Amino acid sequence: MKPDDDVHVLSAKRTADDVPASLADIVHRMPFPTVLIDRASSRLLHANGAFEAAWQRPSAAPDALTLSALLDPRDRPALELMLAQAGLPQAVVPSGVELRLPMADGVLKWALATCARPETETADGALILLQLCDITRQKRAEEDIAARETRWNSALVSSVSGVWDHNYGIGQKYYSPTWRLIRGMAPDDPLPPSKEAWLTLLHPDDVDFTLHAMERQEAGDPEYQMFQYRERHADGHWIWIECRGACIERAPDGRALRVVGTDTDVTDRKHAEHGRAQMSRRLEMALAISGIGVYEADLVTGDVYWDERMYDIYGLDPAMPVAVGQTWENFLHPSDRERVLNNVAVNTQQNERYWDQYRIITASGGERVIRSCSMTFVDTDGHLKMVGANWDISKDVTLHQELERARLLAEARNRELESARVNIEHNAMHDYLTGLPNRRYLDAVLVEQARTCGREGRSLAVLHIDLDGFKQINDTLGHNAGDSILRHAALVLRDNAGPDQFVARIGGDEFVILTPATGGTRKLSSLANRIIRQMRKPVVHEGRECRFGASIGIAWTQGMAVEPKQLLINADMALYRAKNAGRNRYEFYSQETHLEIVRAKRTADDILAAIEEGQFQAAYQLQFDAVTLEVCGAETLARWQHPRHGLLTPDSFLSIAEDIDVVAAIDGIILDQALQDFVKWEAQGVPVPKISANVSYRRLLDPALLRKLRRKNIPTGSLSFELLESAFLDDCGDDVLQTLEQLKSLGIEIEIDDFGSGHASIVSLLRLNPAALKIDRQLVRQLPQSASQRKLARSIVEIGKSLNIKVIAEGVETMDHARILRELGCDVLQGFALARPMPFEEIGPFIRAGSWHAICC
Ligand code: C2E
Ligand code: CA
Ligand code: CA
Repeated sequence: MKPDDDVHVLSAKRTADDVPASLADIVHRMPFPTVLIDRASSRLLHANGAFEAAWQRPSAAPDALTLSALLDPRDRPALELMLAQAGLPQAVVPSGVELRLPMADGVLKWALATCARPETETADGALILLQLCDITRQKRAEEDIAARETRWNSALVSSVSGVWDHNYGIGQKYYSPTWRLIRGMAPDDPLPPSKEAWLTLLHPDDVDFTLHAMERQEAGDPEYQMFQYRERHADGHWIWIECRGACIERAPDGRALRVVGTDTDVTDRKHAEHGRAQMSRRLEMALAISGIGVYEADLVTGDVYWDERMYDIYGLDPAMPVAVGQTWENFLHPSDRERVLNNVAVNTQQNERYWDQYRIITASGGERVIRSCSMTFVDTDGHLKMVGANWDISKDVTLHQELERARLLAEARNRELESARVNIEHNAMHDYLTGLPNRRYLDAVLVEQARTCGREGRSLAVLHIDLDGFKQINDTLGHNAGDSILRHAALVLRDNAGPDQFVARIGGDEFVILTPATGGTRKLSSLANRIIRQMRKPVVHEGRECRFGASIGIAWTQGMAVEPKQLLINADMALYRAKNAGRNRYEFYSQETHLEIVRAKRTADDILAAIEEGQFQAAYQLQFDAVTLEVCGAETLARWQHPRHGLLTPDSFLSIAEDIDVVAAIDGIILDQALQDFVKWEAQGVPVPKISANVSYRRLLDPALLRKLRRKNIPTGSLSFELLESAFLDDCGDDVLQTLEQLKSLGIEIEIDDFGSGHASIVSLLRLNPAALKIDRQLVRQLPQSASQRKLARSIVEIGKSLNIKVIAEGVETMDHARILRELGCDVLQGFALARPMPFEEIGPFIRAGSWHAICC
């Protein structure tokens, strides 16, 4: 290639033609991009091929004549200066100016410009040889390093970690601003002058460790690449520093030449860690104390974590693996299993806490009660997990059960006590037999009602009810029968009493009804009648019919205030009257009743006195053989020689004597006297072959009776007992039968008095096996007028004959009576027609006179 072709001729003051050919050739041959410049005008005179290849001229200035035009404007002054200096004859040729040249694509390239004055130059040194080597690559590398350095420096400044660099090799130590900052040091604060001085800033507990750790770190021990210690902050407080470091340069002998690293203030983290550790310790302690076991199960992988206490609770060896579906589930008590697993299934999707309680069978076979709290959650790894706590509440449950048992026991005991109290109170106020309120209860209610009725001007009535014939049932059939009668009577009263009436049993066979008396006597009468009617209906006890009745005394306030006690007394007096008036009836209390009662009371007192003073005497009524009319016996009859009223017959005292229960005593007195009189008659030759005495049923029950009779040595056949109240003979008990048998064995005969008037049956007659029947005088009286009575008398006689029992007729008042009875076949006659009752003294003369023969014939 010719130089002419290669060298571009640039238009200038000095043109390329002004340049010697040799010079142009040199330029042309240069291996580096080289141009020849006219110093004065800066014009490019020649540019070699390398230049053209390296520095493509901008499309905007393809023929730029000056180098400046090719440069980045910022670098133009530098070029000017270099060119100017290069022109100075004595000056050192400046070199090494770096210039930027924009390329066609806009990229700036770097060129290192060096210039020289060519040897062949003109004397004025007008030409300058300029080499522009492409240093873009180097420049870029430099820029990169600079950028990195800037980045690093700013990183050092802004980093939370302080950087340190111990270069033992050159004896330099570097500490970044942050390193100072975390220690509270200003950028220009002096560093500790020595390692020893620095060590004094360390926490005393950490000094030895830190020295050891530094030593190990420098030695390259990975364990100590990072360690922590405390250092005092400029403010005086301790800061925790985490030191990371590594030796990056070593001497051939292994000694560390350079160690670099970072210090980070981890005080906050340490405090947080400390807090966490404290929290965790507390939690651990709490769990340990409470015995709460904690578990976590990964429901995706099936992995389960059990803490120590979980193993403890389930009695499982901690070495045993635990897995979902394989461990815990097997411990569940069979009875709880299904419910508990259902609960888990239901709650697994909820992500909410849920509680449960169930029994487990531990690995050793024991039973425990577990309380659990669990919840599911999705962990950071995306797995559905279940976390929960279990604790053993067996003791609590046992304790609870025991307490519950104790509570139930206490409650039961309280109930018992309460019911005992209620019972006691009830018993105190009620009659055990009939369940009716008792006397105490009645008294209380009576006082209360008397008060309200008195206040409100209302009338209050008391019905005093006494059972008729109860004593006999009780005596003959026994207490069971008596009890059932009483219960029956209570029922009748209760049935007849309305809700505003109060029924009480006040003792024995006595009852009281307390009732408002708004309807006056009419209503009270109808109530009393109803009761009497129903009481009369026979009651069957153990297959036997029991007959009894009721007498009722009624007293009422008639709107006036009355002493409650007085009301009761009045009703009692009315009752007495009802009884005396023939029983099975009611009586209202009246002034008259009062007087009668007073009289009866006086009579009763008189009777007692009469017994003491021997005012009771025997009278005798002779009995005659119906065929021969010879005296065949005498009935003993009680008489009362009253000091004021004279001689009284039994109708005026017997029922009162019965009320005060002295009939048996009177019987005894009369019998004693009769026996004495009998002996006297024998002695006097008065022909009375035997005597009969009236005996009350109650006397037969006297255990002393037989003993007393035995002592009297009664001659056989001289005495017979007339049994009254033959109606009760049907029901007489074995003891009475036994007594009768023993009487017979003593030679005392038994006669049935008032036969035909009562209810004695043939069967009971057979059982008693009496020596005689006495036809009742009511029956005898009607014989002349009544064919049916005659028929009845005849059948009695026939019964007597067939059973070999004598038949005695009493109440023979007329000769007609005597004739009929004799014709009927009656054995013995007794009555006013033949002889009236008379005292002992009159019997002898009467028999001797024999006047009855004359009357009868
Ligand atoms: P009773 O055993 O039937 O005695 C006969 C009663 O009939 C006697 O009445 C007698 O005076 C009466 N009497 C006799 N003949 C006739 C007559 O032809 N016509 C009438 N109308 N009456 C006649 P008294 O003495 O008043 O005795 C009445 C009842 O008192 C007795 O009836 C007897 O049940 C009882 N009684 C009498 N004395 C005693 C006694 O010592 N002990 C006991 N427990 N009761 C006695
Ligand atoms: Ca009699
Ligand atoms: Ca009689």
